[in-house]
Amino acid sequence: MMNEIVIKSIAGNRVRLKSDIFSKKSNLRLIEEDLESLIYNLRTNISCRSIVFNHKKEITLDEIIQKLNKIFGISYIIPQPQETFSCSGGSCNSCNIKKHNPVSFRRKLIEFGALSIYAAYLFVSETFLGIAVASTPFSLLAGVALVAAIPLLKESYEDIKNKKFTLQTFMGATLVGAIFFGEVMAAFEIIYILRGGMLLEEYIANKSKDEIHRLVELDIKKVFVAVDNYEVEIELDQLTKEHIIVVRSGEKIPVDGIIIDGDGEIDESLINGRSEPEFKTKNDEVFAGTICQRGRIYIKVSAIGNQTYIARTMKEVEFALAQKSPSVLEADILANKLLKLGTFLTIGTFALTGSLLSAFSVMIVMSCPCATILAASTAISAGIANGAKNGILIKGGEAFENVSKAEVFCFDKTGTLTTGKPLVTDIILSDGVSKEVLFDYALIAEHRNSHPIAKSITSYAKNLGLNANDDTISTVIPGFGVKTKYQNHFISVGNLKLMNEEEIDISTYENEYKTFLEDGKTVVFIAYDKKLLGLISFVHEVRDGTLEMIKALKLGGVKHIALITGDETKVANSFAKAFPFDSIYSNQTPQDKANTIETLKQRYGKVVMVGDGVNDTYAMSKADVAISFASGGSEVAIAVSDIAITHSHPDDVVYLHTLSQKALKVVNQNYYIGTSTNLAGVLFSALGKLSPVGAGLIHIGHTVGIMANSARLLRNDIKS
Ligand code: ADP
Ligand code: MG
Repeated sequence: MMNEIVIKSIAGNRVRLKSDIFSKKSNLRLIEEDLESLIYNLRTNISCRSIVFNHKKEITLDEIIQKLNKIFGISYIIPQPQETFSCSGGSCNSCNIKKHNPVSFRRKLIEFGALSIYAAYLFVSETFLGIAVASTPFSLLAGVALVAAIPLLKESYEDIKNKKFTLQTFMGATLVGAIFFGEVMAAFEIIYILRGGMLLEEYIANKSKDEIHRLVELDIKKVFVAVDNYEVEIELDQLTKEHIIVVRSGEKIPVDGIIIDGDGEIDESLINGRSEPEFKTKNDEVFAGTICQRGRIYIKVSAIGNQTYIARTMKEVEFALAQKSPSVLEADILANKLLKLGTFLTIGTFALTGSLLSAFSVMIVMSCPCATILAASTAISAGIANGAKNGILIKGGEAFENVSKAEVFCFDKTGTLTTGKPLVTDIILSDGVSKEVLFDYALIAEHRNSHPIAKSITSYAKNLGLNANDDTISTVIPGFGVKTKYQNHFISVGNLKLMNEEEIDISTYENEYKTFLEDGKTVVFIAYDKKLLGLISFVHEVRDGTLEMIKALKLGGVKHIALITGDETKVANSFAKAFPFDSIYSNQTPQDKANTIETLKQRYGKVVMVGDGVNDTYAMSKADVAISFASGGSEVAIAVSDIAITHSHPDDVVYLHTLSQKALKVVNQNYYIGTSTNLAGVLFSALGKLSPVGAGLIHIGHTVGIMANSARLLRNDIKS
């Protein structure tokens, strides 16, 4: 198995590989160094022997694999893309019951139903009818237990063949031993709980997936396409990128695309949570799942089906469900320890008491540490599902757990704590320049940009009746503004830093500029061929609930809350006056923001960065947890963020923090339930007070308890 890499899953350009070579730190360091130029967002997991990363768009997975081949001399790769997004559900991970042929949930449910009916029959016969159920190794009961145990026995057999002592072997041995010694009822119980537990785990994971699918469900089967001035109805699955589709008032947009004609008010709450619709017109981008509330638009298709923005984001969430989070990994380790302890206690009990029956009861109590595994995995997937239901898309169990472990929360200002569209307050014009001329040039430079200031300028210019001109080459300089070449002339729109860099003289307006800053207004200069045409000042509207969010996070145990902004120091300070920030970092370029995150990490510990993905993706990639906020549609923000908050409500950050705390609390309670009952069971068994059948009942009790406890996390109203 040594020189083999398995592709465990592929979601967009995010890939998980598994191999023995990933179990060595030195190898991982080599990978980090040698693949640095090909991949990003590398996460390594030694105990899982796996790595997860995004490969750059221009690089194929094949190229990366070839590179790994070269470094490690790997002979071949086994692709398993069908495993993509398969949840841990349905297979108890520590028990390593692998899904070679995944049996359908329905079939497992039917099998379990049949087992339950048989169990009820046994119970009624023995308890009410007084008929003793035959429980010899050759009885019907033994037969049923053995048949139900076939999947487990197959696994144990494979492990024994590979000379591995695993949980399967232990459980398989207990089961066969129980039947052999005439404790057939106990054997039946073991297999009954094992299968029931697995089913429940799969149910919780499936429920999480369903929640996610419901969000992406488009319920659109047919679309209208424009053909020579006619609208023709075709099936959605016949649609190609060559088509132009027509969407009218009240209809859901079935694809991602660009408007090539018409305009409309688009309700984009599905992707950015904004309740007020956005006016969109020619050249604007629209997304599948959003609704055209009013108007009529012609859309050139750019992505269909599972290639759409929303479908890809949801896939990442599903992918997260399939990954092991730190607490799930801890559970795996704990389960392994319990396995060793179980063996030791069984032998110990026999040595001390000489009673085979007591030793056997101990063995049964210790034989299914599944409960330990379920303790973590069910709680984390239920938490992720709860998030999805509330518009919080969690793309990794690790990030989810880290939210509540973080010491520091950092917030970007523009677009994150303030709404996406600042208001134009003052316009100052140079001599001979009209408002129309100023905005005409500003629009030329900004109309394709997604920065809140660009959006505000674009919408102001459109209200003046101006139209954008496409014939431009623009360069966005994050944190500074934008430079545009237009018909052999140069337009610059941006802040003082940009003007200084371009050596554009602003001294005429020095006084006005200072006054605006004192008032907390953001100022943007517009220059044409290095001559200043004028300046525009903006006020930012703070999102409702920002103050409450900061207070609640502090109450919830976050030690340090920082504001990190590219805006001027005076503007930042004036903004921050209303909020109890612990530190304010202003005038930050994207590189500065990333450095600030590094500094905070060193000083305090785990850091969460909440940003809109416009100028802060680099900082987000440095944080322990990157939360994208209000970033509907921003490709980079989706790629970099671990968690996407789609509704842009500050409340949702608090909800996420609470949910994460709650999930970890449930994991701990579950361990407690599992471990305490196990210990009590071992004690009573060793004293000869617990029969093998009673030992089995203990399992039923705590597995059900743990499941029920985790299922609480699926409820809507999580409170701390
Ligand atoms: P924040 O960190 O608060 O989100 P940004 O880094 O996005 O702020 O922007 C910082 C400053 O850079 C803005 O206040 C603005 O002056 C300038 N700027 C950035 N992008 C643009 C743009 N597209 N047009 C004009 N000015 C811009
Ligand atoms: Mg921003």
